[in-house]
Amino acid sequence: MIFANWKENGSIAMIEDWTYDFLKATDDELLNNVDVGIAPSYIHIQLFKDLLEKAKVMIGSQDVDYGTNARTSKVSGSMLKDFNVNFSIIGHSEVRNLFNDSNEIVRKKFKTLISNKIQPILCIGESENEFNAKQTLNVLENQLYSVLEGINVENCIIAYEPVWAIGTGKTPEVNLVNDIHEHIKDVVQSATTNNFLPNVIYGGSLNEGNASSFFGQTHIDGSLVGGASLNAESFVKIIKEYSKVK
Ligand code: PEP
Repeated sequence: MIFANWKENGSIAMIEDWTYDFLKATDDELLNNVDVGIAPSYIHIQLFKDLLEKAKVMIGSQDVDYGTNARTSKVSGSMLKDFNVNFSIIGHSEVRNLFNDSNEIVRKKFKTLISNKIQPILCIGESENEFNAKQTLNVLENQLYSVLEGINVENCIIAYEPVWAIGTGKTPEVNLVNDIHEHIKDVVQSATTNNFLPNVIYGGSLNEGNASSFFGQTHIDGSLVGGASLNAESFVKIIKEYSKVK
């Protein structure tokens, strides 16, 4: 499974060009083989849905609000559901760091998504200092338990995104990522009431050049791709790498 996080990128003209290039480079067989999703900004969701209407591609959001009514600027879970949004990214480190989303807030967003039957992609990851201090597993366990403990989870993907790897060109060793993903699966099974076994995807400076080394690892079930997804041809090359290896 390969997901694109478009962050604050895109315009109508750029998305029209991108979807044209994307459809030219992919085919039904590839899209039937690999689960592919794109998370543009809220205002571009319907445009993507219209342009990719005939392709098997999921369209998601980059966030969700946990409230309703008097919360100017926010978009609720029921609004996303109304637009048939397939998945939603929550807990991204940029949202945690720039907009102060705590684990408690991410938990509320998680519950909103599951009650609206929208698949959460829950992002977790350690900072560079935490990585250097060998605190990665403790940080991840804390993020997972605070969001998932005591919840019955039927549908959820975990995105492991080391904060220091996002948009920097730096990546951790793939063997280490594989071990961390295996650990994440154990923790999610222990934290959820129904021992849910999630798919765990990797995010952070993944591109067409390094994708296959990640996808060759047993516990890496795909990727959340930022920068490299903005070029349709690069994004399709990543999808093809995934399809070759998995
Ligand atoms: C991200 O922000 O989720 C991400 C993976 O970014 P990049 O691929 O640009 O590092």
